[in-house]
Amino acid sequence: MRTPYVAGNWKMNLDRRRAFELAEALRNRAGDLSSVDVAVAPPFVYLELVAQTLGKSGVRVGSQDVCDRAEGAFTGEVSAAMVRDVGARFAIVGHSERRHVYGEDDALTNAKLRAALEGDLDVILCVGELLEERDAGRTEAVVREQLQGGLDGVTSEQMARVTVAYEPVWAIGTGRTASPEQASEVHLYLRGLLEGLYEARVADGVRIQYGGSVKPGNAAELLSAPGVDGALVGGAALTADDFMGIVDAAR
Ligand code: PGA
Repeated sequence: MRTPYVAGNWKMNLDRRRAFELAEALRNRAGDLSSVDVAVAPPFVYLELVAQTLGKSGVRVGSQDVCDRAEGAFTGEVSAAMVRDVGARFAIVGHSERRHVYGEDDALTNAKLRAALEGDLDVILCVGELLEERDAGRTEAVVREQLQGGLDGVTSEQMARVTVAYEPVWAIGTGRTASPEQASEVHLYLRGLLEGLYEARVADGVRIQYGGSVKPGNAAELLSAPGVDGALVGGAALTADDFMGIVDAAR
């Protein structure tokens, strides 16, 4: 059985004081994390503060993005080694805002994923279709390309460090979630693709999170949908009440 995994993506929100206060509240309320993995991804500049504040609470810290190169003349970029150095243990790659606001493609996402793994970080690889792609019946083709492209060259051994997040773009920040049936359908399809790429033992171990307007009120239903192993949470990760409500639904 896969341990449920709930991760909060803070995006470009909060300031230093509010990031500290949220981390403090999560530390105080995390409780027993033996049945669920919990993580947060603050902005780069607050990673160290949040990692230190969360301390030994068991809540893991990661970055929302990472550079595809290890070091050098890459103005504005932050490497896997740097985020690891300040307490991050994973990175998100391929988030739809990276893909669709900043034009990152599967090749860059793959390079980032591999740089993260080589820098000793776990990875959450996001995939998901646009509304027009869903309406055109292209959901499976889109997520297949993103999954296969993102995982190009990733070994079985490295897959133990990879989580996949299915995030339909039309459900992100819109208040509109996929139905549990819609989520299941894509999760089971992704599982099948993983089984085509890796041996069963490896493919079955990969967790697939659902993301897109997950809230305390819909978390239980989404998390119990077949094939859904957790959640990647944006807006509802910005308050301890909402985020812990979702974590509680996963326990
Ligand atoms: P949302 O964001 O929960 O605000 O829809 C999810 C995400 O982008 O990871």
